[in-house]
Amino acid sequence: MAADQTTPAPSAATAAAKVGEILRKHELDLTMVENPEFRGHCESCGEPVIGSDGVSYKAESLTRFFHQRCFQCVICQTSLRGGTEFFVNNSAPHCVSCYQEKVLGCCDGCGLVLNQNGVVRAKNKKFHPGCFVCKKDGVRLDGRYYEKEGSFWCRNCYVDVFVPTCGSCGLKILSEQDGQPVTSIDWKGKKYHQQCFGCTDCKKLFVDLKAFQIDGNLYCKNCHSIRSKQ
Ligand SMILES: [Zn+2]
Ligand SMILES: [Zn+2]
Ligand SMILES: [Zn+2]
Ligand SMILES: [Zn+2]
Ligand SMILES: [Zn+2]
Ligand SMILES: [Zn+2]
Repeated sequence: MAADQTTPAPSAATAAAKVGEILRKHELDLTMVENPEFRGHCESCGEPVIGSDGVSYKAESLTRFFHQRCFQCVICQTSLRGGTEFFVNNSAPHCVSCYQEKVLGCCDGCGLVLNQNGVVRAKNKKFHPGCFVCKKDGVRLDGRYYEKEGSFWCRNCYVDVFVPTCGSCGLKILSEQDGQPVTSIDWKGKKYHQQCFGCTDCKKLFVDLKAFQIDGNLYCKNCHSIRSKQ
């Protein structure tokens, strides 16, 4: 059977009490405006913060006030009164350990908790500055790094491991302008600089991958047929 779920309407007395409460706060606020010791309203309990009973910090361009007794870590509720070190995240105060464990989280390098002395962020990962190192040789990476296969590499190692060597000149296939990796020409299992993919004899660059090979050297059709007759 269904129960009768009516809730009683707030009585006139309750309503009057609420209005009284609002008025009382309002009056308090008006007297506070004239109080030189008034600093603001406590973010926690809403009551005025007077003089040195308060703690304040700026977050998102607003100054936040708290009573000393109300000033606590938003996560574990540990008191932060009396000059206890704290950190602000999403405008709310955090004790040191909650800030490290819950806000900063763990280093993707060593797996240990990060700290406020520095966090390096790269591609959705975060590291202690000393843990952000090249996957191959462990060189510390500062700002300049290459990312490949979910790992981070210094330039030397990246070029060494991932940039192919030209089948003609024997050098890494990098741009002559800025030294960055560039598209190579793939031909019969080897890779070439665009500018190296030409005839060994007449130096003409090949079009449509029409190249011929003698002892690993590339020739155009003409030069190839001349050499073949020798
Ligand atoms: Zn308070
Ligand atoms: Zn905490
Ligand atoms: Zn680390
Ligand atoms: Zn390296
Ligand atoms: Zn080359
Ligand atoms: Zn040729």
